[in-house]
Amino acid sequence: MAKQDYYDILGVNKSASAAEIKKAYRKMALKYHPDKNPDNKEAETKFKEAAEAYEVLSNADKKARYDQFGHQAFDGNGGFGGGNMNMDDIFSQFGDIFGGAFGGGGGFSGFGGGFGGGQQRRVKGSNLRIRVKLTLEEIANGVEKKVKVRRKAQAPGTTYKTCSTCNGSGQVTRITNTILGRMQTATTCTTCGGAGQSIDKKPNDADAHGMLVKEETVSIKIPAGVVDGMQLKVSGKGNEAPGNGISGDLLVAIEEEKHETLQREGDNLHYDLYISLPDAVLGTSKEIDTVTGKVRIKVDAGVQSGKILRLRGKGIPSINGYGKGDLLVHVNVWTPKTLNKQQKDFFESMKDDEHFLPKPESTDKSFFEKVKDMFS
Ligand SMILES: [Zn+2]
Repeated sequence: MAKQDYYDILGVNKSASAAEIKKAYRKMALKYHPDKNPDNKEAETKFKEAAEAYEVLSNADKKARYDQFGHQAFDGNGGFGGGNMNMDDIFSQFGDIFGGAFGGGGGFSGFGGGFGGGQQRRVKGSNLRIRVKLTLEEIANGVEKKVKVRRKAQAPGTTYKTCSTCNGSGQVTRITNTILGRMQTATTCTTCGGAGQSIDKKPNDADAHGMLVKEETVSIKIPAGVVDGMQLKVSGKGNEAPGNGISGDLLVAIEEEKHETLQREGDNLHYDLYISLPDAVLGTSKEIDTVTGKVRIKVDAGVQSGKILRLRGKGIPSINGYGKGDLLVHVNVWTPKTLNKQQKDFFESMKDDEHFLPKPESTDKSFFEKVKDMFS
Protein backbone atom coordinates (compact mmCIF):
# COMPACT_ATOMS: atom_id res chain seq x y z
CA MET A 1 0.00 0.00 0.00
CA ALA A 2 1.32 3.43 -0.91
CA LYS A 3 2.42 5.53 2.02
CA GLN A 4 0.45 8.60 2.86
CA ASP A 5 2.02 11.99 2.32
CA TYR A 6 3.67 13.33 5.49
CA TYR A 7 2.06 16.75 5.07
CA ASP A 8 -1.37 15.16 4.72
CA ILE A 9 -0.81 13.07 7.84
CA LEU A 10 -0.17 16.18 9.91
CA GLY A 11 -2.85 18.17 8.06
CA VAL A 12 -0.55 21.03 7.06
CA ASN A 13 0.37 22.36 3.65
CA LYS A 14 3.85 22.24 2.14
CA SER A 15 4.61 25.86 2.99
CA ALA A 16 3.90 25.36 6.71
CA SER A 17 6.48 26.84 9.06
CA ALA A 18 8.41 24.79 11.59
CA ALA A 19 6.18 26.19 14.35
CA GLU A 20 3.01 25.22 12.45
CA ILE A 21 4.33 21.69 11.86
CA LYS A 22 5.15 21.33 15.54
CA LYS A 23 1.74 22.62 16.59
CA ALA A 24 -0.01 20.24 14.17
CA TYR A 25 1.99 17.31 15.49
CA ARG A 26 1.30 18.22 19.09
CA LYS A 27 -2.43 18.21 18.33
CA MET A 28 -2.24 14.79 16.65
CA ALA A 29 -0.06 13.30 19.36
CA LEU A 30 -2.45 14.39 22.11
CA LYS A 31 -5.46 13.10 20.21
CA TYR A 32 -4.05 9.68 19.35
CA HIS A 33 -1.81 9.04 22.36
CA PRO A 34 -2.12 5.32 23.27
CA ASP A 35 -2.92 6.13 26.89
CA LYS A 36 -5.98 8.10 25.81
CA ASN A 37 -6.98 5.37 23.36
CA PRO A 38 -6.31 2.07 25.10
CA ASP A 39 -6.52 -1.00 22.83
CA ASN A 40 -7.35 1.15 19.82
CA LYS A 41 -5.19 -0.13 16.97
CA GLU A 42 -6.31 2.58 14.58
CA ALA A 43 -5.33 5.33 17.02
CA GLU A 44 -1.98 3.67 17.58
CA THR A 45 -1.33 3.54 13.85
CA LYS A 46 -2.24 7.20 13.47
CA PHE A 47 -0.05 8.05 16.44
CA LYS A 48 2.93 6.28 14.87
CA GLU A 49 2.31 7.79 11.45
CA ALA A 50 2.19 11.28 12.93
CA ALA A 51 5.43 10.68 14.83
CA GLU A 52 7.14 9.44 11.69
CA ALA A 53 5.90 12.42 9.67
CA TYR A 54 7.07 14.82 12.36
CA GLU A 55 10.46 13.10 12.64
CA VAL A 56 11.07 13.92 8.98
CA LEU A 57 9.38 17.30 8.63
CA SER A 58 10.94 18.73 11.81
CA ASN A 59 14.45 18.06 10.52
CA ALA A 60 15.57 20.58 7.89
CA ASP A 61 17.83 18.11 6.12
CA LYS A 62 15.32 15.23 6.03
CA LYS A 63 12.51 17.62 5.07
CA ALA A 64 14.52 18.89 2.10
CA ARG A 65 15.19 15.34 0.93
CA TYR A 66 11.54 14.39 1.41
CA ASP A 67 10.36 17.47 -0.52
CA GLN A 68 12.61 16.49 -3.40
CA PHE A 69 12.30 12.70 -3.51
CA GLY A 70 9.20 11.85 -1.46
CA HIS A 71 9.20 8.60 0.51
CA GLN A 72 11.90 7.20 -1.75
CA ALA A 73 14.32 9.55 0.00
CA PHE A 74 14.41 7.16 2.94
CA ASP A 75 13.95 3.78 1.26
CA GLY A 76 16.77 1.36 1.80
CA ASN A 77 18.43 3.83 4.08
CA GLY A 78 18.31 1.49 7.01
CA GLY A 79 17.72 4.04 9.69
CA PHE A 80 14.29 5.22 8.86
CA GLY A 81 11.13 4.91 6.82
CA GLY A 82 8.75 2.02 6.48
CA GLY A 83 6.94 3.14 9.62
CA ASN A 84 9.43 1.32 11.80
CA MET A 85 9.80 3.87 14.56
CA ASN A 86 9.24 2.11 17.80
CA MET A 87 7.49 3.57 20.82
CA ASP A 88 10.76 4.35 22.57
CA ASP A 89 11.86 6.54 19.70
CA ILE A 90 8.53 8.30 19.70
CA PHE A 91 8.50 8.94 23.41
CA SER A 92 12.04 10.23 23.38
CA GLN A 93 10.95 12.71 20.72
CA PHE A 94 8.34 14.05 23.14
CA GLY A 95 10.92 15.40 25.54
CA ASP A 96 11.92 18.03 22.99
CA ILE A 97 8.44 19.05 22.02
CA PHE A 98 6.33 18.87 25.12
CA GLY A 99 8.94 19.79 27.67
CA GLY A 100 8.45 16.70 29.76
CA ALA A 101 4.64 16.77 29.80
CA PHE A 102 4.70 13.11 28.86
CA GLY A 103 7.73 12.00 30.79
CA GLY A 104 9.20 8.74 29.67
CA GLY A 105 11.85 8.77 27.05
CA GLY A 106 14.19 6.19 25.75
CA GLY A 107 17.43 7.24 27.36
CA PHE A 108 19.65 4.34 26.52
CA SER A 109 23.20 3.41 27.19
CA GLY A 110 24.78 0.24 28.42
CA PHE A 111 25.81 -2.37 25.92
CA GLY A 112 26.19 -0.09 22.91
CA GLY A 113 23.87 1.13 20.19
CA GLY A 114 20.20 0.30 20.55
CA PHE A 115 18.36 -1.65 17.94
CA GLY A 116 14.68 -1.01 17.39
CA GLY A 117 11.92 -3.50 16.90
CA GLY A 118 9.17 -5.13 18.89
CA GLN A 119 9.17 -5.37 22.63
CA GLN A 120 12.71 -6.55 23.14
CA ARG A 121 15.68 -4.84 21.63
CA ARG A 122 18.47 -6.84 20.11
CA VAL A 123 21.57 -4.98 21.10
CA LYS A 124 23.99 -4.24 18.29
CA GLY A 125 27.76 -4.10 18.77
CA SER A 126 29.49 -0.87 17.81
CA ASN A 127 31.02 -0.33 14.38
CA LEU A 128 34.76 -0.37 13.82
CA ARG A 129 36.52 1.89 11.34
CA ILE A 130 39.75 1.35 9.44
CA ARG A 131 41.53 2.98 6.52
CA VAL A 132 42.94 0.98 3.63
CA LYS A 133 45.59 2.43 1.31
CA LEU A 134 45.40 1.29 -2.30
CA THR A 135 47.65 1.83 -5.29
CA LEU A 136 46.14 2.97 -8.57
CA GLU A 137 46.88 -0.49 -9.98
CA GLU A 138 44.91 -2.13 -7.14
CA ILE A 139 42.02 0.27 -7.72
CA ALA A 140 42.04 -0.43 -11.46
CA ASN A 141 42.00 -4.20 -11.08
CA GLY A 142 40.12 -4.69 -7.81
CA VAL A 143 41.86 -6.39 -4.92
CA GLU A 144 41.31 -8.53 -1.87
CA LYS A 145 42.97 -7.08 1.24
CA LYS A 146 43.59 -8.89 4.48
CA VAL A 147 43.57 -6.55 7.46
CA LYS A 148 44.13 -7.15 11.15
CA VAL A 149 41.25 -5.85 13.25
CA ARG A 150 41.03 -5.66 17.03
CA ARG A 151 37.40 -6.41 17.79
CA LYS A 152 35.41 -7.11 20.92
CA ALA A 153 34.16 -10.68 21.14
CA GLN A 154 32.23 -12.65 23.75
CA ALA A 155 34.73 -14.23 26.11
CA PRO A 156 34.59 -18.05 26.10
CA GLY A 157 32.83 -19.25 29.23
CA THR A 158 30.57 -16.22 29.56
CA THR A 159 26.94 -17.11 30.25
CA TYR A 160 23.91 -14.86 30.38
CA LYS A 161 20.68 -15.01 32.33
CA THR A 162 17.35 -13.25 32.02
CA CYS A 163 17.52 -9.72 33.45
CA SER A 164 15.70 -9.69 36.78
CA THR A 165 14.82 -5.97 36.59
CA CYS A 166 12.75 -6.25 33.40
CA ASN A 167 12.18 -10.04 33.32
CA GLY A 168 13.79 -10.19 29.92
CA SER A 169 11.51 -7.71 28.17
CA GLY A 170 14.21 -5.03 27.97
CA GLN A 171 11.73 -2.39 29.08
CA VAL A 172 10.32 -1.09 32.32
CA THR A 173 6.93 0.57 32.58
CA ARG A 174 6.54 3.81 34.44
CA ILE A 175 3.36 5.56 35.59
CA THR A 176 3.47 9.35 35.68
CA ASN A 177 0.89 12.01 36.45
CA THR A 178 0.60 14.51 33.62
CA ILE A 179 -1.75 17.19 32.38
CA LEU A 180 -3.69 14.43 30.64
CA GLY A 181 -4.02 12.27 33.70
CA ARG A 182 -2.10 9.12 34.58
CA MET A 183 0.16 8.02 31.77
CA GLN A 184 1.96 4.80 31.30
CA THR A 185 5.24 4.93 29.44
CA ALA A 186 7.75 2.25 28.61
CA THR A 187 11.41 2.98 29.18
CA THR A 188 14.45 0.96 28.27
CA CYS A 189 15.69 -1.09 31.21
CA THR A 190 18.81 0.54 32.58
CA THR A 191 20.09 -2.65 34.22
CA CYS A 192 20.54 -4.57 30.96
CA GLY A 193 20.48 -1.69 28.48
CA GLY A 194 17.42 -3.16 26.77
CA ALA A 195 18.99 -6.52 25.94
CA GLY A 196 16.78 -8.42 28.41
CA GLN A 197 19.83 -10.36 29.56
CA SER A 198 22.51 -9.82 32.16
CA ILE A 199 25.80 -11.55 32.91
CA ASP A 200 25.56 -14.82 34.79
CA LYS A 201 29.17 -16.01 34.75
CA LYS A 202 32.24 -14.59 33.07
CA PRO A 203 35.99 -15.26 33.10
CA ASN A 204 38.17 -12.87 35.11
CA ASP A 205 39.86 -11.31 32.12
CA ALA A 206 36.56 -10.30 30.47
CA ASP A 207 35.09 -6.82 30.90
CA ALA A 208 31.83 -6.03 32.72
CA HIS A 209 29.80 -7.24 29.74
CA GLY A 210 31.74 -10.50 29.37
CA MET A 211 33.72 -9.23 26.39
CA LEU A 212 37.36 -9.61 25.38
CA VAL A 213 39.31 -7.75 22.71
CA LYS A 214 40.89 -10.11 20.21
CA GLU A 215 42.81 -9.62 17.00
CA GLU A 216 41.28 -11.09 13.90
CA THR A 217 42.29 -11.09 10.24
CA VAL A 218 39.45 -9.92 8.06
CA SER A 219 39.45 -10.34 4.30
CA ILE A 220 37.96 -7.40 2.39
CA LYS A 221 37.01 -7.69 -1.27
CA ILE A 222 37.51 -4.28 -2.86
CA PRO A 223 35.80 -3.83 -6.23
CA ALA A 224 37.60 -2.11 -9.12
CA GLY A 225 36.94 1.61 -9.53
CA VAL A 226 36.67 2.71 -5.90
CA VAL A 227 37.36 6.37 -5.15
CA ASP A 228 39.44 8.03 -2.46
CA GLY A 229 37.21 8.78 0.54
CA MET A 230 34.66 6.09 -0.32
CA GLN A 231 33.48 3.89 2.54
CA LEU A 232 32.83 0.17 2.22
CA LYS A 233 30.90 -1.84 4.81
CA VAL A 234 31.80 -5.36 5.88
CA SER A 235 28.67 -6.51 7.72
CA GLY A 236 29.09 -8.19 11.08
CA LYS A 237 32.85 -7.61 11.37
CA GLY A 238 32.62 -4.81 13.92
CA ASN A 239 32.44 -5.41 17.66
CA GLU A 240 30.34 -8.35 18.80
CA ALA A 241 27.46 -7.63 21.15
CA PRO A 242 26.94 -9.42 24.47
CA GLY A 243 24.36 -12.20 24.81
CA ASN A 244 22.08 -12.70 21.83
CA GLY A 245 22.95 -9.32 20.31
CA ILE A 246 24.22 -8.87 16.78
CA SER A 247 27.69 -7.78 15.72
CA GLY A 248 28.44 -4.28 14.49
CA ASP A 249 29.97 -3.57 11.09
CA LEU A 250 33.49 -2.89 9.90
CA LEU A 251 33.61 0.39 7.97
CA VAL A 252 36.50 0.61 5.53
CA ALA A 253 37.60 4.04 4.29
CA ILE A 254 39.43 3.97 0.96
CA GLU A 255 42.61 5.98 0.57
CA GLU A 256 44.25 6.27 -2.86
CA GLU A 257 48.03 6.44 -2.98
CA LYS A 258 49.56 8.94 -5.35
CA HIS A 259 50.95 7.33 -8.51
CA GLU A 260 54.41 8.25 -9.71
CA THR A 261 53.44 9.09 -13.30
CA LEU A 262 49.68 8.68 -13.70
CA GLN A 263 47.11 11.18 -12.52
CA ARG A 264 43.51 10.17 -12.00
CA GLU A 265 40.54 12.28 -12.94
CA GLY A 266 37.32 10.33 -12.37
CA ASP A 267 37.69 7.19 -14.46
CA ASN A 268 40.22 8.77 -16.85
CA LEU A 269 43.98 8.83 -16.35
CA HIS A 270 46.48 11.42 -17.53
CA TYR A 271 50.12 10.90 -18.44
CA ASP A 272 52.63 13.61 -19.33
CA LEU A 273 54.96 12.48 -22.11
CA TYR A 274 58.10 14.56 -22.80
CA ILE A 275 59.82 14.09 -26.15
CA SER A 276 62.87 15.78 -27.64
CA LEU A 277 62.71 18.24 -30.53
CA PRO A 278 64.37 15.74 -32.97
CA ASP A 279 61.83 13.04 -31.88
CA ALA A 280 58.98 15.49 -32.50
CA VAL A 281 60.36 16.33 -35.92
CA LEU A 282 61.29 12.78 -37.00
CA GLY A 283 58.67 10.73 -35.12
CA THR A 284 59.41 8.11 -32.47
CA SER A 285 57.91 5.41 -30.26
CA LYS A 286 57.88 5.64 -26.46
CA GLU A 287 57.12 3.33 -23.55
CA ILE A 288 54.56 4.68 -21.11
CA ASP A 289 53.03 3.50 -17.82
CA THR A 290 49.50 2.15 -17.59
CA VAL A 291 47.68 0.52 -14.69
CA THR A 292 48.15 -2.87 -16.36
CA GLY A 293 51.86 -2.49 -17.14
CA LYS A 294 53.95 -0.61 -19.69
CA VAL A 295 52.83 -0.15 -23.30
CA ARG A 296 54.69 1.26 -26.30
CA ILE A 297 53.00 4.03 -28.27
CA LYS A 298 53.88 5.55 -31.64
CA VAL A 299 54.39 9.31 -31.95
CA ASP A 300 54.02 10.57 -35.54
CA ALA A 301 56.64 12.78 -37.21
CA GLY A 302 55.67 16.45 -36.93
CA VAL A 303 53.67 16.00 -33.70
CA GLN A 304 52.78 19.29 -32.01
CA SER A 305 53.42 20.01 -28.35
CA GLY A 306 50.14 19.78 -26.46
CA LYS A 307 48.69 17.00 -28.59
CA ILE A 308 46.63 14.50 -26.61
CA LEU A 309 46.79 10.84 -27.56
CA ARG A 310 43.80 8.88 -26.25
CA LEU A 311 44.26 5.23 -25.31
CA ARG A 312 40.69 3.93 -25.07
CA GLY A 313 39.82 1.67 -22.16
CA LYS A 314 43.21 2.09 -20.50
CA GLY A 315 41.71 4.07 -17.61
CA ILE A 316 39.88 2.97 -14.48
CA PRO A 317 36.75 0.75 -14.62
CA SER A 318 33.60 2.54 -13.55
CA ILE A 319 32.52 1.53 -10.03
CA ASN A 320 28.96 1.28 -11.38
CA GLY A 321 30.04 -1.22 -14.02
CA TYR A 322 29.61 1.11 -17.02
CA GLY A 323 32.79 0.42 -18.98
CA LYS A 324 36.21 1.91 -18.45
CA GLY A 325 37.84 5.31 -18.64
CA ASP A 326 40.64 6.26 -21.05
CA LEU A 327 44.32 7.06 -20.68
CA LEU A 328 45.12 10.50 -22.10
CA VAL A 329 48.75 10.98 -23.07
CA HIS A 330 49.76 14.66 -23.20
CA VAL A 331 52.65 15.27 -25.59
CA ASN A 332 55.16 17.89 -24.45
CA VAL A 333 57.98 18.78 -26.85
CA TRP A 334 61.12 19.59 -24.92
CA THR A 335 62.78 22.75 -26.20
CA PRO A 336 66.54 22.77 -25.46
CA LYS A 337 67.68 25.54 -23.11
CA THR A 338 71.37 25.46 -23.98
CA LEU A 339 72.91 25.00 -27.44
CA ASN A 340 76.50 24.82 -28.72
CA LYS A 341 77.76 27.11 -31.51
CA GLN A 342 76.99 24.64 -34.30
CA GLN A 343 73.42 24.00 -33.09
CA LYS A 344 72.81 27.70 -32.64
CA ASP A 345 73.99 28.39 -36.19
CA PHE A 346 71.68 25.69 -37.48
CA PHE A 347 68.58 27.17 -35.85
CA GLU A 348 69.62 30.71 -36.86
CA SER A 349 69.76 29.53 -40.47
CA MET A 350 66.28 27.99 -40.17
CA LYS A 351 64.61 31.14 -38.80
CA ASP A 352 63.06 32.13 -42.07
CA ASP A 353 62.80 28.67 -43.57
CA GLU A 354 59.24 28.03 -44.64
CA HIS A 355 59.16 24.55 -42.98
CA PHE A 356 59.84 26.16 -39.61
CA LEU A 357 57.09 28.79 -39.83
CA PRO A 358 53.96 27.95 -37.81
CA LYS A 359 51.05 27.04 -40.08
CA PRO A 360 48.33 25.70 -37.79
CA GLU A 361 45.84 23.51 -39.60
CA SER A 362 42.27 22.83 -38.60
CA THR A 363 43.45 19.56 -37.00
CA ASP A 364 45.85 21.45 -34.71
CA LYS A 365 43.25 22.39 -32.18
CA SER A 366 43.79 25.08 -29.60
CA PHE A 367 44.23 24.07 -26.00
CA PHE A 368 40.67 25.08 -25.11
CA GLU A 369 39.17 23.10 -27.97
CA LYS A 370 41.12 20.04 -26.83
CA VAL A 371 39.88 20.40 -23.29
CA LYS A 372 36.35 20.78 -24.59
CA ASP A 373 36.75 17.57 -26.63
CA MET A 374 38.10 15.67 -23.69
CA PHE A 375 34.97 16.24 -21.63
CA SER A 376 32.41 15.84 -24.39
ZN1 LIG B 1 16.63 -5.53 32.01
